[in-house]
Amino acid sequence: MTAPLEALALARRITEQAYKAGASLVTTLFVDDEATLLRFRYASDTMFDRAPEWFYNGLAAAYASGTARLAITGSNPALLANEEPAKVARANVAMSKASRPALELIARHEINWTIVPSATPAWAKLVFPNESEQDAMSHLWDGIFAATRANASDPVAAWKKHTTALERRVDILNGKRYSALHFRGPGTDLRVGLADDHLWLGGATMSRNGIRCIPNMPTEEVFTTPHKDRVDGVVRSTKPLSYQGALIENIEVRFERGSVVEARSTQGEQVLRGMLDTDEGARKLGEVALVPHSSPVAASGILYWNTLFDENAASHIALGQAYSTCMRNSDSLSTEERFARGANESLIHVDWMIGSGEVDVDGINADRSSEPVMRRGEWV
Ligand code: ZN
Ligand code: ZN
Repeated sequence: MTAPLEALALARRITEQAYKAGASLVTTLFVDDEATLLRFRYASDTMFDRAPEWFYNGLAAAYASGTARLAITGSNPALLANEEPAKVARANVAMSKASRPALELIARHEINWTIVPSATPAWAKLVFPNESEQDAMSHLWDGIFAATRANASDPVAAWKKHTTALERRVDILNGKRYSALHFRGPGTDLRVGLADDHLWLGGATMSRNGIRCIPNMPTEEVFTTPHKDRVDGVVRSTKPLSYQGALIENIEVRFERGSVVEARSTQGEQVLRGMLDTDEGARKLGEVALVPHSSPVAASGILYWNTLFDENAASHIALGQAYSTCMRNSDSLSTEERFARGANESLIHVDWMIGSGEVDVDGINADRSSEPVMRRGEWV
């Protein structure tokens, strides 16, 4: 388990429940935002191309031997907003490279993993800037409890019902075998070709170790693998993105035959460019996801500045690594075979939001006819 220091109380309660549920050994690694800032203030400039490889290799070794993974998010989404963008970008690239072996095992769902949120004072004050820290924390916890169904009278039953509903959508979309999705809205006219043999997923996931898990809590999305070479058009982000502590706002990009060929943003453009230059696959899509505008996270009307929440409030795309499980018979395919079918490869996987109540989505059939999938952000 990883957790921000401020999530100590939640981490302890999860540890207690994990042992009661039969976990053999719970190891928690705490992340300290203050220490991250000290690095940016005082570490030598030459050190920003380094990452603790031994640490990420340790995570990969743990996953390879069947260790489950739980990440608590809640670090300050704007922690590095005032740091030198070039340094932030370099640190991100180094971190992406070092964490590649671990990310690969996660993306393959080799083990069961879950990301859950904890309110922290810095995050709460960003979401509710006009409230006292105490009120902001309490409002953020309310939002978290509602979005994660923790406030339901029977949360486990509520999750079963919810994942069943998501799985019904997944079945419908898998029956359609669309060749592409077409997004249209203000600043957006984007055709996203889907990978050959793409598979829609959503809700709970069966990991390769045979354990069912819900990777993201909250989760409102159904998602699949785009074809890395078949994305064309322009797209505008509909929510700001907090990427490794930097804020990137009003992203506008143009895709040509799968790759981003033009990119700009009103804030964080240098970090955005650094992200796109990580490797060849960083300019291509690895995920496309549909989320109705009426999702409970969107309906809260709150901008969370945290991808775990905001990506469940709007349809989104992710630049970078594809989920290898989002392909039919993925178990029997090699990386090369998945790549040949259109699944992207990259060191990064960065989701950003492109859906809203003003965005329509069409499904394009193999014979080029089309049908409405979403109108004004809602399922047709
Ligand atoms: Zn997603
Ligand atoms: Zn994603």
